[in-house]
Amino acid sequence: MGLLSQGSPLNWEETKKHADHVRKHGILQFLNIYNKVKERQRDVLKWGDEVEYMLVEMDDNNEKVRLVLNGKDVLEILQEKGEKINPNHPTLWRPEYGSYMIEGTPGQPYGGTMSEFNTVEDNMGKRRREAASVLNKNETLLTVTSFPRLGCPGFTQPEYKPTPVEKGVSKSLFFPDEAINRHPRFSTLTRNIRHRRGEKVAINVPIFKDKNTPSPFVETFPEDDGEAARAALPDHIYMDAMGFGMGNCCLQVTFQACSISEARYLYDQLATFCPIVMALSAASPFYRGFVSDIDCRWGVISASVDDRTREERGLEPLKNNKFRINKSRYDSIDSYLSCCGEKYNDIELTIDEDINKQLLDAGIDKLLAQHIAHLFIRDPLSLFQEKIHLDDENESDHFENLQSTNWQTMRFKPPPPNSDIGWRVEFRPMEVQLTDFENSAYVVFIVLLTRVILSYKLDFLIPLSKVDENMKVAQKRNAVQEGMFYFRKDAFKGCNPVLDPPSTAQNGVESEAKDGEEFTLMSIDTIINGKEGVFHGLIPMLNCYLENMEVDVDTRCTILNYLKLIKKRASGELMTMAKWMREFAAKHPQYKQDSVITDKINYDLLHKCDRIAKGEEKCPELIGDPVNRGK
Ligand code: GLU
Ligand code: MG
Repeated sequence: MGLLSQGSPLNWEETKKHADHVRKHGILQFLNIYNKVKERQRDVLKWGDEVEYMLVEMDDNNEKVRLVLNGKDVLEILQEKGEKINPNHPTLWRPEYGSYMIEGTPGQPYGGTMSEFNTVEDNMGKRRREAASVLNKNETLLTVTSFPRLGCPGFTQPEYKPTPVEKGVSKSLFFPDEAINRHPRFSTLTRNIRHRRGEKVAINVPIFKDKNTPSPFVETFPEDDGEAARAALPDHIYMDAMGFGMGNCCLQVTFQACSISEARYLYDQLATFCPIVMALSAASPFYRGFVSDIDCRWGVISASVDDRTREERGLEPLKNNKFRINKSRYDSIDSYLSCCGEKYNDIELTIDEDINKQLLDAGIDKLLAQHIAHLFIRDPLSLFQEKIHLDDENESDHFENLQSTNWQTMRFKPPPPNSDIGWRVEFRPMEVQLTDFENSAYVVFIVLLTRVILSYKLDFLIPLSKVDENMKVAQKRNAVQEGMFYFRKDAFKGCNPVLDPPSTAQNGVESEAKDGEEFTLMSIDTIINGKEGVFHGLIPMLNCYLENMEVDVDTRCTILNYLKLIKKRASGELMTMAKWMREFAAKHPQYKQDSVITDKINYDLLHKCDRIAKGEEKCPELIGDPVNRGK
């Protein structure tokens, strides 16, 4: 989840005093990097995935499943046995927000050859087995996006009680501080977000109204001092801690581009896919033991780290703060970075004018300057006493401090100082899938998409305000089937086309969008699989690309299996994880149609998930029947 420094963390009052210092030197560090590497060309396309895992205990006697708070120990053992003794070890392990979480990546980035697509699933399998091999009996590793009973009484092993009244970093009614990673970065972020905001974070997720769900659905919280009663909305599942968001798992992909301009182009193009692929990966319908009316985690995390004050949120006139800020630090991007994107930058962009000017004066172009000046409207949230005065030529911690706490759908990543790493972009919206097969499929789909975009110089840009509307639709229940998304009709016709535009008929267009507009409303099925007269479809485009590539038979078969999954998820032939979990709960004998996920339902669900992930059980309605699984 970002930069990890060692040392003594400062509290919010002290951090705040250094905010301008951190920003000033952060910008200098950025400029130093930029000036050294702006001309870098011909870096090769490399990429890598990140998978976040939860450690769970299956208590078969009591039919309960709990999150095990031993991520730190598991991580240490994995690193001891892996990267510490062998620099070429095939896996790397990193901490994540929850003390029940770990994150795994391949040991080395993948390169540009097609045959590497055939090694992704194998590497994910290695990770899963490696981590599983160091767990205790009854424990397992799951790639579920949100733990259905996160924050319910006794959801952790060992069990801890939340401390809403006494000293604590979250002061949550539900989420004990012990479930936060013990590295001081994570508790410091948690506490400083709350202090900066001036109150606890407030997450309200609409509840799914089933036949027997109380209406209105209103909860009372015995330990509440009044804050929850004020913050909790009727007909919503209320949550009050960073852990409810950052304690969720996702699947990310990072690409190294060959130059800064290619990175900026990819950043923009992929931004338009974020809502689409998020909806397609939907996997998180349950929160704090209830069935919700959303399928994706995004808004939950967004609210879980929303450190904006009431002034910044526009609830009070500006007095002590500098800016009105429209979004949380965890949210969708606010400006495109490439020249093709400029005309679609139609969202009001709050920027720090002084920083913007400093960047422009230093020779940074307008689009990049405003991007950085926008990230830098935020305050640093965690700072270590020992890390205040840095060597701006050779260190970048202050830049990274703000960069890595702007958790947006896409991240534009300058190279670290003095490294041979190139300019990178990170694709961040996807929910993690249950099996290595599915995770590989989503990853390979995105990587292939970048190849196609780059080779054909495609243009998928639409106004950013439309991408934001798509983000809202994408999180709704069953958006993959029912949602309509703004999408560009002809990707060959935009900025810099190199191919002759194929003809597109205008009949059968699915929306009321004005004739002649570049984009229109489409279903995910249309976007992914295409529809005569409306849109080519991404899968047909990828297939066309694949036909023109030299690919060995085995790899081709693997890729086609992955694309088949994506295709069928989009058409509805296969369920998303979110839908599948909903159906599982709905059919469970203990489910009372009251939107409650009991311990037993949770246990049975995750037990089944574990068997499917391990390949002990098939799940054709979710995954289909891929022919070459388990390689
Ligand atoms: N777990 C977070 C998510 O689900 C992402 C944390 C990270 O940036 O690594 O989006
Ligand atoms: Mg992570």
